[in-house]
Amino acid sequence: MKGKISGISLGPGEPELITVKALKALQAADVIFCPATVREKEKIESKAARILEVLGIDGEKIRHFYVPMSTDRRAVNKIYDDVCRELVKRAESGQNVAVTAEGDGGFYSSANYIFEKLRQLGSPVEMVAGVPAFIAAGASIGLHIVRQQERMLVIPGNLSEEELESALARGYTVVIMKVPLGEGVLRSYMVRHPEYRYFYFEQVGTEAEYITSVYTEIQDHPFTYFSILVIKP
Ligand code: SAH
Repeated sequence: MKGKISGISLGPGEPELITVKALKALQAADVIFCPATVREKEKIESKAARILEVLGIDGEKIRHFYVPMSTDRRAVNKIYDDVCRELVKRAESGQNVAVTAEGDGGFYSSANYIFEKLRQLGSPVEMVAGVPAFIAAGASIGLHIVRQQERMLVIPGNLSEEELESALARGYTVVIMKVPLGEGVLRSYMVRHPEYRYFYFEQVGTEAEYITSVYTEIQDHPFTYFSILVIKP
């Protein structure tokens, strides 16, 4: 390939939390592919494109790809396959192409399918690291997530009470991603364990940011997808 394909991590949402390396790679790219969703009334939403706009990246270079809000993996993968073909075609013709990922592109990233697929196709992808959302969340309230010899478990919300209890009973700090997946388990767990400390972070670094460590507020607040719950024993 004459051109290069890069996977650029944008950080958790606050534009300034991008790395210098990622910013330089975006500035040097000929074309940047950003995931977008189409909500009601054809309204296009792309968190990635908004970050790029604030960073002063030329909008002409941006191509959206629309990720359907669907649980049908085949429909989603079809879009990703089309993006991969387009990326390879452009790189072969000498363009430097970038695909953006929120947070870090190697950490529960929905762009992972694209990066894996490109590797399978024999097209090398250069990944640029980013600040994961849970690290930005901790920093936003000055939380020392783990210190000295402490241990931590990062786990998606679809966990069981036993998993949670076993980690907390052993002194682990637990970081829960994709919180709504565990709404039922987490709420009943909180009721039975008011002795632990809970920190809820939503849309960190954006205008919609909501953060609380007040036990009753967390209990009353509906969990949304872009949220993280940290539990400390
Ligand atoms: N690659 C991302 C994770 C993507 S998985 C990273 O490195 O952080 C999506 C999950 O990330 C969400 O369910 C939520 O748990 C978390 N997340 C991403 N951005 C967030 C934000 N701005 N505030 C709170 N949680 C966020």
